[in-house]
Amino acid sequence: MRTLFISDLHLSDKRPDLLRALLHFLEENKNSCDQLYLLGDIFDAWIGDDFVHPAIQPLSAALNALADNGTEIFFQHGNRDFLVGQTFADSIQAQLLPEEIVVTLPDGKSALIMHGDQLCTDDTEYQQLRVMLRNPQWQQQVLQKSVEERLAMASQLKAESSEQKSQKSVGIMDVNAESVRQAMNKAECDLLIHGHTHRPAIHNNQRSDTCGTRIVLGDWDTELWYLECSETGQELKHRPL
Ligand code: MN
Repeated sequence: MRTLFISDLHLSDKRPDLLRALLHFLEENKNSCDQLYLLGDIFDAWIGDDFVHPAIQPLSAALNALADNGTEIFFQHGNRDFLVGQTFADSIQAQLLPEEIVVTLPDGKSALIMHGDQLCTDDTEYQQLRVMLRNPQWQQQVLQKSVEERLAMASQLKAESSEQKSQKSVGIMDVNAESVRQAMNKAECDLLIHGHTHRPAIHNNQRSDTCGTRIVLGDWDTELWYLECSETGQELKHRPL
């Protein structure tokens, strides 16, 4: 049994190299991956399932090939692609997951999985925005707007977010240790897997002085990152694109 986790690819038409790397990654894992978890920010922006960029077509085909071959695919929303809906999930044969969920890994361990932006609670400004962005009523209103309006909204959100990012300290944009502890305690889980911060690492003693491992997935930019889980445990891997 082999389970793979990826996140934070930030696919966009500006980075065809990332899409190519993902297609290659899927092809090489086609016959050896039982479960594939997409933990958010796979897409740099998503304005609704009714506007799927043509460049995404080969990705849909590759994911369908994987699913047809027996791989279970799971999709969790990130802070960029939170508008991915059931229609797109169905089109890639993926199960949409809630924003936090406990899953069982091939070695029998339970893992709490999430995109990770909800752990960055020092960034109060972003957390306030997140409440609005994740509100189903707000999302419904947005999805009723024209494609042009939504594209404009998306680029405005992106511009605001990069401007705010440039003014915030690196610490504020990382996870908050107490929020990590609370999340692990609430889920009664000693293993947490998330992405979002673009700081791939394995941290120990996150739940108490003696327990709690937090695996942070890496973003795809100059390297591709993935977490490989098998009967023998978890390995965070990376290589040049
Ligand atoms: Mn993110």
